[in-house]
Amino acid sequence: MRTHEMLNQEYKVLTLDSRRTPMHELISTMLSHRTNHADEVNAYNTMLERFGDWEGVLQASEEELADAISTTRYPGQKAPQIQQTLRIIKEERGDINIDFLADMPLEEAMAWLTRLPGVGPKTATLLLLFNFKKPVLPVDTHVFRVSQRVGLIGAKVTANKAHDILLDMLPKDATTLFNFHKHLFWHGQKVCTWSYPKCEKCVLSGLCNYYNAVRAKGIDRAA
Ligand code: SF4
Repeated sequence: MRTHEMLNQEYKVLTLDSRRTPMHELISTMLSHRTNHADEVNAYNTMLERFGDWEGVLQASEEELADAISTTRYPGQKAPQIQQTLRIIKEERGDINIDFLADMPLEEAMAWLTRLPGVGPKTATLLLLFNFKKPVLPVDTHVFRVSQRVGLIGAKVTANKAHDILLDMLPKDATTLFNFHKHLFWHGQKVCTWSYPKCEKCVLSGLCNYYNAVRAKGIDRAA
């Protein structure tokens, strides 16, 4: 796919190495919802400093946990979701550990994860790709917006459907999918921003539907 090749050149190809344990990735991704990275990291560290480990987080009162993660948005919703998730993992697996997902077939692992409170397809695919190198594609707001503007997906496609459409266009290889996700994420953060995309600096302008249809004709507004 041309978009993928051009962004590989622009941002360089990365090696897929998980920096965080699966439990760290799962809970951090839950904390990150509508929250910037620094505040998510702050909440994660505060939570473990105060309660010691996952068992301590599980045993804390809901109010104490909400206070520890108060740098994130919606701590009052996230605290019970995190505790319920930890409780389910412990009850089902006997331990607060999700390393078993490495050996679970992909569809089963997706279904298991998305049954957890506060875990949707985006969190599940991030975890399965980053930590277990399974061939899925996390479609967050940046990946979705850039894909739509370039024209890889149609204007009426939902985020869940976008996952299947984009996956069909790419090799089912975890490193490729990781790079595609990361590159579109960065591109959406830095260049193809929501409010005013910097099309004049964009390597994708030559193949971008939005640029050709709107910006090149001088209509000065965001998609
Ligand atoms: S040309 Fe503009 S709209 Fe298209 S991908 Fe680049 S920044 Fe986004």
